[in-house]
Amino acid sequence: MGRIIAIANQKGGVGKTTTAVNLAAALAATPRKVLLVDMDPQGNATMASGVDKRELENSSCEVLLAECPAAAAIVRAPEGFDLLPGNIDLTAAEIRLMDEPAREQRLKNALAPLRDQYDYLIIDCPPSLSLLTLNALAAADGVIVPMQCEYFALEGLSSLVDTINALKGKLNPALEIEGIVRTMFDVRNNLANAVSGELTKHFGDKVFRSIIPRNVRLAEAPSHGQSIVGYDRASRGGIAYLGLAGEIVRRERKVSKEMA
Ligand code: ADP
Ligand code: MG
Repeated sequence: MGRIIAIANQKGGVGKTTTAVNLAAALAATPRKVLLVDMDPQGNATMASGVDKRELENSSCEVLLAECPAAAAIVRAPEGFDLLPGNIDLTAAEIRLMDEPAREQRLKNALAPLRDQYDYLIIDCPPSLSLLTLNALAAADGVIVPMQCEYFALEGLSSLVDTINALKGKLNPALEIEGIVRTMFDVRNNLANAVSGELTKHFGDKVFRSIIPRNVRLAEAPSHGQSIVGYDRASRGGIAYLGLAGEIVRRERKVSKEMA
């Protein structure tokens, strides 16, 4: 059964979408069967996957509202992974869901019949703890938290960890932090190095060893509708995301060995 991983951080601009899309593409290259789910009304993950968010017949909006099964909204991204696309309609879905029963469990229920078809289901979350993010966290087995090693980052991180632990009780007892990934990292920045050191001190091996550098190729790729794997896999950003995918796949092997 595929592992569902939400990419979440309540802060905007920390590299969630960049991580979701490039991790999906890098895992697809390993090769693993991957579904990327866009739960952000901005639809950036959809566009960056090479799918036009303005021309969707069905999207994660209809899926959340149970107006169509997920399978009917999924499209094939050019880079070898499947995409449940999203766009601004998600805002309307969120409002309409407010009064519905089991409104946090919609995505989980919609993905359940598909799990067997994938190795990884990666969910890109919006930058808030909205009902859309709650749906992602209710559906997920694990959360990957992208973070920038800045001054207040650790504070934000501990409030996110508190939130996840609180949700765990109510929404999804199986939910765990899969890992923390350092994004837009600049090795010449002393503060970034200090924050990174604190991070590993507090969170130990929850911190992925792969560090995503600040790399202009990563910022350029979405405007070509490509992931870094398609756009420039030999760039520093490309190597970093392929490394992150490798770490995740190795963990999966380790877990299955322990269970055998
Ligand atoms: P979020 O989804 O958390 O809001 P994004 O992934 O959209 O964050 O990233 C915010 C901006 O930073 C985007 O313009 C993106 O292209 C850029 N960006 C993200 N990661 C990197 C990186 N490692 N190097 C350079 N630019 C990056
Ligand atoms: Mg985003």
